[in-house]
Amino acid sequence: MCEKPAVSSEHVPPKCIFPESKDVKGINLRQHLITVPSCDVHNSAKSKDDEFLMVSLAGIFGNNSIGFQHKFSKVNRAIRRSSNRLLDAAFTKRKHYKLERDNKFLEVIWGTFDHVRLNDCFTHIAYGLHFHHFERRFKGQVKVIMGYLHSKDMSNNNFVQFIKDRAAIDLKDVERCGKNPDVFYYQFVAPDEHGIYLLHMRFYGGIDVYASFLPEDKTKPYNLALELMNEGIETVINLDGKEYHVNVKS
Ligand SMILES: [Zn+2]
Repeated sequence: MCEKPAVSSEHVPPKCIFPESKDVKGINLRQHLITVPSCDVHNSAKSKDDEFLMVSLAGIFGNNSIGFQHKFSKVNRAIRRSSNRLLDAAFTKRKHYKLERDNKFLEVIWGTFDHVRLNDCFTHIAYGLHFHHFERRFKGQVKVIMGYLHSKDMSNNNFVQFIKDRAAIDLKDVERCGKNPDVFYYQFVAPDEHGIYLLHMRFYGGIDVYASFLPEDKTKPYNLALELMNEGIETVINLDGKEYHVNVKS
């Protein structure tokens, strides 16, 4: 993250998102976790975010059973221990509902995550994975897109869907790194003609987060479609015969 000397090491992603074997029928999901050197300031900033991230990710609909086992064991223990403070931190707004099926009840939360803090967490992880993967610090701009969140703004959802579908094409034959892929794996796509490269992170089999890296010695490419979107002008992007409408005026 910075040029200060490393005094410790930290896990990327944080260790607490990997279930302990006692919570997942004895399976070891903490094999060869990734660590990177860290300065004091960034390591302590990150450790405050670890539980926040864990609570924000483990129980998301669409996750695999490992994610849910983690949610209903370690994560709920942490939430109870904090007297819901962790939930208050994870959501800026939330409502609780009970879903019923076959006389079984499931409590669900519908709400808005602390998007800014999540963005910081994923940016931090992206820098760490870059260091781990390429064995050098990244200098430049990192931008994160959380592909698993849904917006009230339909055209933002269309844009995210476009990124996901486009990334799926680029990621098809790219190696998946990470020894506990049911919890987490990542993929780095080779730089494009502008020197920009993409990182895909997947958590619990269902959560997709993307980060783009623009090295400081490269200039941002001029992309007409992106410029139009930034200006709020209605834009239609085509990909493999599918159309994505962004900034649609209602
Ligand atoms: Zn630092």
